Amino acid sequence: MSEQKNSTPSLPVLLGVMGDPIAHSKSPAMHNAALQAAGANGIYMPLHVRPEQLESAIRGIVALGYRGVNVTIPHKEQVMQYLDVIDESARLIGAVNTIVNEEGKLIGYNTDGIGYVRSLKEEAVPELAGKRIVVLGAGGAARGVIYALALEKPERISILNRTADRAVALASDLRAHGLGDITGGGMEEAAAVLASADIVINTTAAGMHPHVDDVPVDPALIRAGAAVSDLIYNPLETRLLREAKQRGCIVHGGLGMFIYQGAVAFEHWLGIPAPVETMRRAVLDSF
Ligand code: NAP
Repeated sequence: MSEQKNSTPSLPVLLGVMGDPIAHSKSPAMHNAALQAAGANGIYMPLHVRPEQLESAIRGIVALGYRGVNVTIPHKEQVMQYLDVIDESARLIGAVNTIVNEEGKLIGYNTDGIGYVRSLKEEAVPELAGKRIVVLGAGGAARGVIYALALEKPERISILNRTADRAVALASDLRAHGLGDITGGGMEEAAAVLASADIVINTTAAGMHPHVDDVPVDPALIRAGAAVSDLIYNPLETRLLREAKQRGCIVHGGLGMFIYQGAVAFEHWLGIPAPVETMRRAVLDSF
């Protein structure tokens, strides 16, 4: 009689993204391509979760044995109350976009800002230390991005926003956490501040589809040779980036932020390096 092999079949790693709506999300295409390229037995599902079902859905992560999920609009803030541990950066940003199930304990992270900075360094400006950075906008995305930028020890970060009070409040809040020289102001300061900026980052929605002719600031105010980055990835090249490129600036679009926030999440779940180029290709193919 031949000896029988005693191998236990392993279950796939379950992952997903919770949001409302969710059908448009490019995360499933990106992560399923990543799982396949990494040779991992796993699946990443779009999970339509309405706000009134969020608590049950989060409990379902443990009940169903999910390894983790991403959380997107409108749940990023509300989800925090249902988690066991919130990572320090997510607490400071006030939003969670990635949950890891560590043997029944749910840990919340925010990979948006860290992902943005990894993308900026890999794709446009390798060294951020000592740089003078201008951030246009003071909303949710700006908060995560500025937190992660501050960890890179730039010389200073100036936040300019259409509603000046929001920029002033955000700067003073981040300064109070010891994050360095961060100031806030209104767009009337743009000419003076942009004249000496090394890096200009648009975190506003100005220029996003369908308002593709909008710019957050007059591109002529940006110094030739500065790096200009835009969080918007629809369109892939905004008018701000197009005009900055014509003025001799290094430009960086928003697709990389989306890819790298996913890459950092993937690494939290799988514990192996994310196949970033496969992820980028999958997203571009899904447009
Ligand atoms: P948010 O919290 O609603 O903040 C919006 C910001 O944009 C505010 O500072 C607002 O200024 C400003 N703004 C909106 N319309 C404007 C206009 N026409 N002119 C000038 N300023 C304007 O939104 P958010 O979550 O921070 O998202 C902002 C942008 O980041 C969006 O375009 C989004 O697509 C992009 N984003 C990209 C990624 C990625 O993965 N690449 C991730 C997250 C977000 P006021 O305070 O004056 O209203």
